[in-house]
Amino acid sequence: MEPVIIIPVLDDNFAYLFRYEKNKAIAVDPADATLILNEIKRRNLELTSILGTHHHADHTAGIKELQHKTNCQVITGNQHIAEGPILDFGNFRMKIIPTPGHTSDSVCFYIEPSENTGGILFTGDTLFIAGCGRPIECDTKTMWNSLQKLAALPDNTLIYPGHDYTEENYEFALTIDPENKFIQKLLEELRKKQKEGRPTVPSTMAQEKQANVFLRANDSAIKSVINMPNAGGGEVFAELRKRKNIFG
Ligand SMILES: [Zn+2]
Repeated sequence: MEPVIIIPVLDDNFAYLFRYEKNKAIAVDPADATLILNEIKRRNLELTSILGTHHHADHTAGIKELQHKTNCQVITGNQHIAEGPILDFGNFRMKIIPTPGHTSDSVCFYIEPSENTGGILFTGDTLFIAGCGRPIECDTKTMWNSLQKLAALPDNTLIYPGHDYTEENYEFALTIDPENKFIQKLLEELRKKQKEGRPTVPSTMAQEKQANVFLRANDSAIKSVINMPNAGGGEVFAELRKRKNIFG
């Protein structure tokens, strides 16, 4: 049983269903209620909870209708921002990790490793494949702290982000670190996946720690290519974020 069902919504958002029992599922960032309802009906699932990573409409738009139609519980960042409680779903344990930065209510949902699966992380607009969200409601230091919190999770953690910005993120990464063979290879593989219509998620934390320039802000190789050899990780992160905002 594949626990995560990927549901592309809007232009480039991802909603997800996490199936924690044969017939029970949680929806993550369900921006389109109809798509989610069709999927749960088709797979004969009962929707028991909705997780919202942050308050932006392209992540929350379907929540009201879904809650109305399924009577499920809704768990969002603004209820849990102080400390990440642990919730049980069947045999899975889920931790809510507060990750302010993009918005002040941003949280990530971490399904802890279990017998058959490694950890699974739903990152909303905090961590993207090869990128990170724009700090809109918080400063870059807050965002950097949140990303470091995520980077401390196990290397085999599967990462399911809120948007498919992967191609432009690799393109940006290559403006920072043009000789990086690993990123060049990942971009090639990504374009192949897109061509063949295969999903571009998930990534792993191990891959992100190697290929995501934002997670590498404290890495001396990145500091040297952007000519900030003596700067701290937070300063380098702020500079990378500034360059990314200009890049697009
Ligand atoms: Zn957002």
